Amino acid sequence: MTRYLQKPSPNFDARTRPIDLVVLHYTGMQDAEIALARLTDPSPVAGHYPGPWQSDDVDASAPLSRVSAHYVVDEAGQIYSLVPEEHRAWHAGASSWEGDGDVNARSIGIEIVNGGHDFGLPDFADAQIDSVIQLLKDIFGRWPELSPKRVVAHSDIAPERKADPGEKFPWKKLADAGVSIWPEHVAVQLDNDDPVSAVQQQLSFIGYGVKQTGYMDEITKASLIAFQRRFRPSDMSGGVDDETRYLLIALGRMVK
Ligand SMILES: [Zn+2]
Repeated sequence: MTRYLQKPSPNFDARTRPIDLVVLHYTGMQDAEIALARLTDPSPVAGHYPGPWQSDDVDASAPLSRVSAHYVVDEAGQIYSLVPEEHRAWHAGASSWEGDGDVNARSIGIEIVNGGHDFGLPDFADAQIDSVIQLLKDIFGRWPELSPKRVVAHSDIAPERKADPGEKFPWKKLADAGVSIWPEHVAVQLDNDDPVSAVQQQLSFIGYGVKQTGYMDEITKASLIAFQRRFRPSDMSGGVDDETRYLLIALGRMVK
């Protein structure tokens, strides 16, 4: 049995939907202590938490929104339990998956301590990833509706706002451990008539909040970058290249 340290957060309310997703985040803050303080603070203000809101034009006493997650996993692999899984934690913000906007209502949120893009995008420690894998196995054991294909990145559900857990997050290692999915190359003939529409259809089928407009709009571009950030981080240009199209088809076959 995995040991969780209890670090209760007052920032939650009642779920309105059954659980069917897990959302992975990085904390994007200086260290675990500051992240835990922020995620359990019922009245956070800008001056207490280092971040972009500390720039000169932001008042240090400006209230920040209340946030939380069900779990925090620190660099050493310690798992903190903040909000019971039965309740709705506040981690996803404005987001969408499979055409559904209230992701908090139906998800379990895991915050992985990592400075992220604002703090040099450090590597994730092995011990930390091992704990994330163990935590996901525990969660799947408690909720039969959940499985490796129900684990998403914050950047998947809010691609225009969020980049976490970031392109250094080892999704392949999670897939190898049986707690996420990874697309293998598929042998299909690509139809080059209208590649943008094809890509939009595949992104939407997987769950991204993309509409079929037939042209490269902002949400399509952002979703393509989110997809590449997770499955092809060596090139996150948001381009409609053949490899991305193959990976989209492969992933589409795995998720539904
Ligand atoms: Zn996040």
